[in-house]
Amino acid sequence: TLYMGARSNAVEHIGTAISHGFDYAVAGAPVIIADGLNGKNIRMVKIAKKHFDEVSIAGDIAAADSMIVLSHFKGHIVSGFGGAIKNLAMGCAPPDGKRAQHNARPFTIPEKCTGCASCMKVCPKDAITVKKKKSVIDHELCIGCFECMHVCPEHAIEIDWETEIPQFMERMVEYAYGAVKGKEKKVGYMNFLIRITPDCDCFPYSDAPIVPDIGILASKDPVAIDAASFDLVNQQQGYADSLLTAHHHPGEDKFTGVHEQTDGYRQVRYAVEIGMGSSKYELIRI
Ligand code: SF4
Ligand code: SF4
Repeated sequence: TLYMGARSNAVEHIGTAISHGFDYAVAGAPVIIADGLNGKNIRMVKIAKKHFDEVSIAGDIAAADSMIVLSHFKGHIVSGFGGAIKNLAMGCAPPDGKRAQHNARPFTIPEKCTGCASCMKVCPKDAITVKKKKSVIDHELCIGCFECMHVCPEHAIEIDWETEIPQFMERMVEYAYGAVKGKEKKVGYMNFLIRITPDCDCFPYSDAPIVPDIGILASKDPVAIDAASFDLVNQQQGYADSLLTAHHHPGEDKFTGVHEQTDGYRQVRYAVEIGMGSSKYELIRI
């Protein structure tokens, strides 16, 4: 994948999967890294949308006749939340595709930076150096993963939220659209609303859930399942001892209660706009 560490190539990625319990004996299915040994097995899928005329999709995903998409529903520092749409977008894209979506770049606010180097230690691309007690981000190396923003204790790393983030979400949705193009009515989705953490699972640590466990949703529509997941989370009473700083009451947006600057529901609105699915749903309890 685009990320370094134990997910940087297919061999190590499979090792990571096994260490998390996803081996043949447990899952009853093989783990296949769909973009090949070094991320070069790709297929370009024409979508003709606002940001992309075509998107780069992992070759074995594009070749699959059908898919079951399993997603952990949780918060995300930039996209507000991550569910089926985000999982399709990032999970089905090879490194080039991930890079194309992540083209927002953070910058350091020198007045706030104390030079602690926490950002430098988590950067997966060694894009950060600390000089004269100030962090400097090399935008040529940066892949826009935003991990540095998350760990900075001084909130000294920022992005242009108004211009960069809406576009990031739209690019993400277009990739999700491309990942399932041609598989209409052959993809099923399950969102796990369990241990709903404030941040993405790609961080090297977790945090306390922000609301109680809700259950598992299933749908044939990636937009409806994310819309329903979003609504169900927001209907909960938020945990006081979590990273929620506001919006604890039922009916309030829990994701802006953690990441106040990002409107995650924009994913759903844009997905509806480009014809990926519907935000309307009916919940049937089984
Ligand atoms: S967003 Fe931050 S952590 Fe991620 S690659 Fe860029 S500089 Fe490194
Ligand atoms: S984590 Fe924040 S305060 Fe520490 S060096 Fe990086 S930008 Fe500066």
